[in-house]
Amino acid sequence: MTGGKPQLVFEAPRRGLPARHLADLDAAGRAAAVAELGLPSFRAKQLAQQYYGRLVADPEQMTDLPAALRPQVAAALFPPLLTAARQIECDAGETRKTLWRAHDAATFESVLMRYPDRNTVCISSQAGCGMACPFCATGQGGLTRNLSTAEIVEQVRAAAATMRDEFAGGRLSNVVFMGMGEPLANYGRVVAAVRRITEAPPDGFGISARSVTVSTVGLAPAIRRLADERLGVTLALSLHAPDDELRDTLVPVNNRWAISETLDAARYYADVTGRRVSVEYALIRDVNDQPWRADLLGKRLHGAFGPLVHVNLIPLNPTPGSEWDASPKAVEREFVRRVRARGVSCTVRDTRGREIAAACGQLAADGGGG
Ligand code: SAH
Repeated sequence: MTGGKPQLVFEAPRRGLPARHLADLDAAGRAAAVAELGLPSFRAKQLAQQYYGRLVADPEQMTDLPAALRPQVAAALFPPLLTAARQIECDAGETRKTLWRAHDAATFESVLMRYPDRNTVCISSQAGCGMACPFCATGQGGLTRNLSTAEIVEQVRAAAATMRDEFAGGRLSNVVFMGMGEPLANYGRVVAAVRRITEAPPDGFGISARSVTVSTVGLAPAIRRLADERLGVTLALSLHAPDDELRDTLVPVNNRWAISETLDAARYYADVTGRRVSVEYALIRDVNDQPWRADLLGKRLHGAFGPLVHVNLIPLNPTPGSEWDASPKAVEREFVRRVRARGVSCTVRDTRGREIAAACGQLAADGGGG
């Protein structure tokens, strides 16, 4: 299998996006929208409190909003965004994957994972993906479109509501942009969504920025720009190879920004934010799991980051039709040992949701029929 060319020229920015939703707007935007409707300004805060504080997205259920106003507010600020087309559970109910269908029938997914010490939702930033990584199910289908800020935020609201309503008042604590799409290729909408996710109610859900992870193939200029936003979120870099020759094929955008440029940008991120960068490395049998690659990975990362890096090894989740597979456990253990021997912290990521193809676009790639 070889990677196609990544799509670096993006479509017309608004194509396929849904109508404006409350969650697209910041406080100033909400105030302006409420004024447009001829409503007093306190309504803006009230709507935001309902949405972010109480997780209510249907004006008919906003009991502090006069019944006569609800249809008007619904039409102006709460257009239909997402319908759950399909839901699948595994890991004894601890993992739940939802396939969402948008207003234009575009589909994408999110996965809610419950752990003893945290509850994490993995969300999508695009329907499909233009990065064309050959081992990733989403990469095979290409990009359908960017998601709107509200479509991203809604995935979080839905997960937080599920935690509260179905799991005894549980709290959503973590958000990872590791579903479908390349978040930094939908930069402005993703940054706006991160603000909604992290700001305290009534401006957002109040999830701690350090518990939010933005994962990228390594668009170097966008990583630097993200650092300068000072959002304080964790950066994950999908590296998957320590040498350009192999990474050019596994992560085709490497042909545009090579490893050294990407590592420099990620180091800048670590310096500006003071936060350790997470390096993702899907271990693929006989492709990128050789002892010499483990040595080179450890050496390059230690050189670039010192202690400001952590490697997450991900056993490859094989995609339909690919001959690639995860590495044997003994090879994986040796890989970990060698990376650590270079002074770089390294762990193997748990593989939640494998039976429901929770990784990376596999449900949407199935056709997603519901
Ligand atoms: N585009 C972003 C975020 C989405 S993918 C990025 O690439 O970082 C989230 C993570 O899952 C990435 O590290 C990606 O490389 C990894 N991944 C994709 N397909 C996989 C597979 N089949 N097995 C294991 N990890 C995979």
